[in-house]
Amino acid sequence: MTVRIKTPKRRKKPDESEKGENHSKHRPNLIEDFHNHCGYCGAYDGFGYTKTYFEIDHFVPKEFLKKTNSKIGFCKYDNLVYSCRSCNNSKSSLWPSEDENIHHKNDEGFIDPCSEEFDTHLYRTSDGAILWNTDLGKWMATEAFKFDEREKEIKILWNYNQIRIQIESLIDLLNNEVEGSEEYNLIYEKLSPLNLKHFIFQKQLNEIDNND
Ligand SMILES: [Zn+2]
Repeated sequence: MTVRIKTPKRRKKPDESEKGENHSKHRPNLIEDFHNHCGYCGAYDGFGYTKTYFEIDHFVPKEFLKKTNSKIGFCKYDNLVYSCRSCNNSKSSLWPSEDENIHHKNDEGFIDPCSEEFDTHLYRTSDGAILWNTDLGKWMATEAFKFDEREKEIKILWNYNQIRIQIESLIDLLNNEVEGSEEYNLIYEKLSPLNLKHFIFQKQLNEIDNND
């Protein structure tokens, strides 16, 4: 499986100006273009989990842009990634080259999460962990984003999100049925065990949160 449910795609023309310092003005566009998920690890932004408080990452890091007096401003939309706090913190100011146009060299560095190529380096296992197909993928997973150290949380977040998606689509179906009808009751029965799982995942996340 792919790491993200859907490959994010940045719009060509963001609603806000690409000039200035305040990159958070692009947040509403980024949320839509990244489908409410972290561009790197695919975590969903709606679980109210502190580690998945969502931030805006600069693909070519801000520090690097500052240091090199780059023409890429802090608000350049193509350089922004909607990212969970864990991924943003782990990636931090890592950059593999002295050139903003060289994103990776010698199997170290990054692939833009909005490119199809991202998914050729990393993949999702059936139980929700993130592994790699290439040496560059391994570097991103272990050196940059620490997907290996975060495996427990990554798996819970993935499985929790799968349950959320199933529950939401069943609720949509339920809303089209007459309460008490045979169809309504059938859908309702399918929802009960999912709601239980949902509750258990939420509890597991809270436990990880409280242990840090
Ligand atoms: Zn993430």
